[in-house]
Amino acid sequence: MRATIVTVGDEILIGQIVDTNSSFIAKSLDKIGIGVHEMLSITDDRKHILNTLSSLQDKVDVVIVTGGLGPTKDDITKKTFCDYFEDTLVVDEKVLAHVTQLIEGFFKRPITQINKDQALVPSRCEVLFNQVGTAPGMWMEKGNTVFVSLPGVPFEMKHLIENAVIPTLISRFDRPYIVHKTILTYGVGESLLAERIESWEDELPEYIKLAYLPSPGRVRLRLSARGTDENQLHEGIREQVEKLQLIISDCIVGYDDGETLEVVLGKLLAAKKITLATAESCTGGKIASLITSVPGSSAYFKGSVVSYATEVKETILGISPEVIREHSVVSAAVAEAMASQVQKILNTDYAIATTGNAGPDKGESEAEVGTVFIGIATPDGVFSEEFNFGQPREKVIDRAVIKGLEIIYK
Ligand code: ATP
Ligand code: MG
Repeated sequence: MRATIVTVGDEILIGQIVDTNSSFIAKSLDKIGIGVHEMLSITDDRKHILNTLSSLQDKVDVVIVTGGLGPTKDDITKKTFCDYFEDTLVVDEKVLAHVTQLIEGFFKRPITQINKDQALVPSRCEVLFNQVGTAPGMWMEKGNTVFVSLPGVPFEMKHLIENAVIPTLISRFDRPYIVHKTILTYGVGESLLAERIESWEDELPEYIKLAYLPSPGRVRLRLSARGTDENQLHEGIREQVEKLQLIISDCIVGYDDGETLEVVLGKLLAAKKITLATAESCTGGKIASLITSVPGSSAYFKGSVVSYATEVKETILGISPEVIREHSVVSAAVAEAMASQVQKILNTDYAIATTGNAGPDKGESEAEVGTVFIGIATPDGVFSEEFNFGQPREKVIDRAVIKGLEIIYK
């Protein structure tokens, strides 16, 4: 089965908002074996919408449209949808009761005609009831194509995709199964990783595909198996993952998208009852932010000193001005001193510290742009490593954050 996603809205085309709806819908369809053939973003223009709908009819099995279902004049998708199916708008009593309850009961406002119009739907459509908003979704069919129209507001769209669209597609259509498995690797770049697993990759069976998804400091490998026997797909993926583990066990930290380095590290620290702190200069608190993005991180993370200015490294962390003067602020000695001091001040087992020059200019430090020293304090002593993460600035910061966690993890 093939689908096309159409997002409607001038705000997307002028770059005011980023179309995140399409990626969510694509992911949801992919999980149930429906391949997205195309994603289109179009203007809030009647003719354009009509042309798009008719160009897709009988070309794909499913068209999912988001946006333009609101009550304001710029939202014309519903009216246009109705025209395309040569239908008329009628009041849906269940939706009207829901909208009335929401406006009068929850928002304590008198209901207006504009609000009531939210309950109008094409007479022949299947209403996808929207529990979390006022605009209902609509399911219509023409020729060999299903057309679904959903609100543009991301959480309303998600609610309807998960609770109405996907269950309905599953119940009405035969689809192949698709099983994905993501393997998270850290510390090895994409090309080096590809070289290490080349012979394994060449031996993959026809029905299993491999994709590389790199981001700073990490590469996600995604295996996708497609076929009619779900158990066989799971078994096939399991076999391949086992073979892969033998080749790159040193850089695999987890499986599936939820098992990121911060999550896996958190589990490890919690299990071993180890505490951690950070002293961050060039990463500006981002290591702490990533660690604390994990629920339950208070069990092992005590805190961070964002000692960005040299003065703060001296006054708050208590690093002697002589050390800084002698070695320069971006140095192994300062990274180590920062780690040791924050470990002592916050009374933790381990500490991570960063000091570097993220660029783009050389600034007052003597270090090359891109240089970062990561200091690690452990119960047995302190050490540091030097890196050059190049440019641009965001990459240097992201790489330093990941590297800090990676060194602690190992
Ligand atoms: P409403 O009833 O709130 O007017 P609607 O169905 O008319 O909903 P739009 O007016 O198109 O939806 O969009 C409402 C808001 O939802 C937009 O301002 C935007 O913030 C967000 N939005 C719309 N389309 C997308 C999209 N494709 N990706 C991400 N956000 C979107
Ligand atoms: Mg709107």
